[in-house]
Amino acid sequence: MDQKVDFPGLGAAAQSFISTGPKKLLIGGEWVEAASGKTFDAIDPVTEGVICKVAEGGKEDIDRAVKAARTAFEGEWSKVSPAQRQNLMLKLADLLEKHAEELTDLESLDVGKLRFFARIIDVQGSVDSMRYNAGWATKIHGRTYDMSLPSMHGEEYRAFTVKEPVGVVGQIVPWNFPLAMAIWKIGPALATGCTCILKPAEQTPLTAIRLGELIQEAGIPAGVVNIVTGYGETAGQALIEHPDVDKIAFTGSTPVGKHIARTAADTVKRVSLELGGKSPAIVAADADLDVVLPGIANGIFFNHGQVCTAGSRLFVHRSIHDKVVEGVANIASGMRLGSGFEEGVQMGPLVSKEQMERVLGYIEKGKAQGGQVATGGERHGDSGYFVKPTVFTGCGTDSAVYREEIFGPVLVATPYDDMDEAVKMANDTDYGLAASVWSTNVSTCHRVSRKLRAGTVWVNTHNMLDPAMSFGGYKQSGFGRENGMEVLDLYTETKSIVMQI
Ligand code: NAP
Ligand code: MG
Repeated sequence: MDQKVDFPGLGAAAQSFISTGPKKLLIGGEWVEAASGKTFDAIDPVTEGVICKVAEGGKEDIDRAVKAARTAFEGEWSKVSPAQRQNLMLKLADLLEKHAEELTDLESLDVGKLRFFARIIDVQGSVDSMRYNAGWATKIHGRTYDMSLPSMHGEEYRAFTVKEPVGVVGQIVPWNFPLAMAIWKIGPALATGCTCILKPAEQTPLTAIRLGELIQEAGIPAGVVNIVTGYGETAGQALIEHPDVDKIAFTGSTPVGKHIARTAADTVKRVSLELGGKSPAIVAADADLDVVLPGIANGIFFNHGQVCTAGSRLFVHRSIHDKVVEGVANIASGMRLGSGFEEGVQMGPLVSKEQMERVLGYIEKGKAQGGQVATGGERHGDSGYFVKPTVFTGCGTDSAVYREEIFGPVLVATPYDDMDEAVKMANDTDYGLAASVWSTNVSTCHRVSRKLRAGTVWVNTHNMLDPAMSFGGYKQSGFGRENGMEVLDLYTETKSIVMQI
């Protein structure tokens, strides 16, 4: 059934995509309705209106998708050479680029992102990531070894390792960078010869569905990538429990990550977890404030604070603390909030009503626990899920806003007196995803980078990711590294072959 929709600023291609709903599941190369016939709504966080209906996949659909992925893995896909896989991936990257404006529209609409950033970060980042991983398809290799085995009768041995695809991979992604997170997972799966079932976040299913169409257009065989939209508790749960899934690749919150690790243990699935963060930014007394002020503001307010690496804890040397807080608060209070499609808007809404309420709840807790609001501290307007960019000072180290991941535009600033104290406070967290240090002294930058317990440390910048740089967490921010050559380890098994000749 076609719906009549009108979202201001949306291009014709995206308009046409959402008008031809309800959206279906991609299983074994066919677009099918959920076995239950159920659907759920994709919501626009600016207008709170329904964008379109989407199939609500469940256990039965996951089971069909796993069967399709297994069939493709053992059949047609196993005969496709590395060079052919590379070419298919490059074709897919070209198609993503060709439809970049449409994908940007869909991502911006579904998540509430600034269209400008969605184009250069989410969509172009996805194109670049797919091309980067395509390059790996032809460069995966084992090693040869000289054996030291006894040779009684002149036997000789030849020994080597081969890298084999891990098999059928369940991929579960969050809503903050829906397309990019899907590509970060599908890319290495294709490069290594795995097959997969992608479960997008319930809040943001649209670009994954369009990606499924482009995967078919690129000529990637049926069943290699299956896409099952639906809820975490049902579709996601069925995927992590499924006995014929070899590996789960997950990006999302730490509580769900822990649940996945426990569940996957029953069938000893391989698991990689990219989880939450509460990333510190340490500003030294000698830092260049022209770099620091916009850098810290971007570090927390980019994507409306819905970034796993967001620089949400700011530690500033006491001598410049008030000046830095005032500067960042001025940037925050001057930010224009509105639809990501509008020219000049600097911050959009949060992804959902639930997320807005969660963030506002943290802000209230922060106030109740004695924090002072330097700017923001409330909802913006009364329609759309907007929260004002917020800066807190004076929060106790046990308060919720200081310790817990808020995943919204909320910064907590704390002064320090010497760098050892700053590093100690920065590391005093269960998380360890990322951190940044801001200084004009190169020795300070090097020294502090090595002392911070985090998977990524930035110096005089924050949130800068590249497909070539490995990415992942220390501590409860997860394990396994995506991107870079390290990601290949997550999608391959090493087999040792020893031959007597
Ligand atoms: P989430 O609630 O953990 O959800 C992530 C995904 O897991 C969604 O697809 C969700 O489905 C699914 N899920 C929920 N329960 C499940 C279950 N029982 N079994 C299987 N799957 C299940 O996280 P979110 O709120 O979407 O995303 C925000 C979190 O992601 C933050 O903590 C953030 O730090 C983290 N994140 C981390 C990285 C990183 O690389 N480290 C990157 C981005 C985001 P539903 O949507 O249907 O609930
Ligand atoms: Mg949405």
